[in-house]
Amino acid sequence: MNRIKIFLLVFISLLLTCTLQNKYAMDDVLALGQSGWSKVPSVVLVSPENDSRIQAAYEAINFWNQTFAQIGTSFRLGSVTHTAEKIPANQMVSLSRGIFVNQRNLPENIQKMPGDLILVLSDETFISFEYGFPSKGKVLVGIKNQKIFPLTLPNVTRNVIAHELGHAIGLGHNSDPTKLMCGRPASYRPNLFESEQARFFPLSEEEIITLKKMHPPNWKPI
Ligand SMILES: [Zn+2]
Repeated sequence: MNRIKIFLLVFISLLLTCTLQNKYAMDDVLALGQSGWSKVPSVVLVSPENDSRIQAAYEAINFWNQTFAQIGTSFRLGSVTHTAEKIPANQMVSLSRGIFVNQRNLPENIQKMPGDLILVLSDETFISFEYGFPSKGKVLVGIKNQKIFPLTLPNVTRNVIAHELGHAIGLGHNSDPTKLMCGRPASYRPNLFESEQARFFPLSEEEIITLKKMHPPNWKPI
């Protein structure tokens, strides 16, 4: 009997640990790797005309371009075009799910979009993600419905967008919850981005070094 009790206790505590760790553990990432971009990627922002996250998306893009200016590279995220073209709900949900089984099928309607980096502000519920399709020359970023916690918290959405753009630029995760790119294997805790003041969470020193290697001062588009 005691053995059964002990087994049950261990089982339940393992189950709880896994559940808690997974609550914010996964976002997203299939980054381009450490090689960076060989061109200035044009950005297509996909959202309804009046989406309240559009400003946050532009702020996140500006955050990265200011970062590139500070590290002394000429690389930038390129011109931004907005489209209100609808992406079917099931596509974003299945793309998000697909990342966990490494299933990379870019639907034709998204493939036809003109940008190199497609940033979708979706109304659907899924795990926000970044997905690279090197053979198609496209990177897709999907940001989930803003009405669901923690995107309801002030300052979180702009940092979640910046985090996913960080993957699109080529960065992976770190394990420091005070940094923008915190994530797996550490828990991804976007709720920690909450702030009454608009601010972006910082990059680690290692990430700055990585960015400089990917896009050095003499970086030129190929
Ligand atoms: Zn991530």
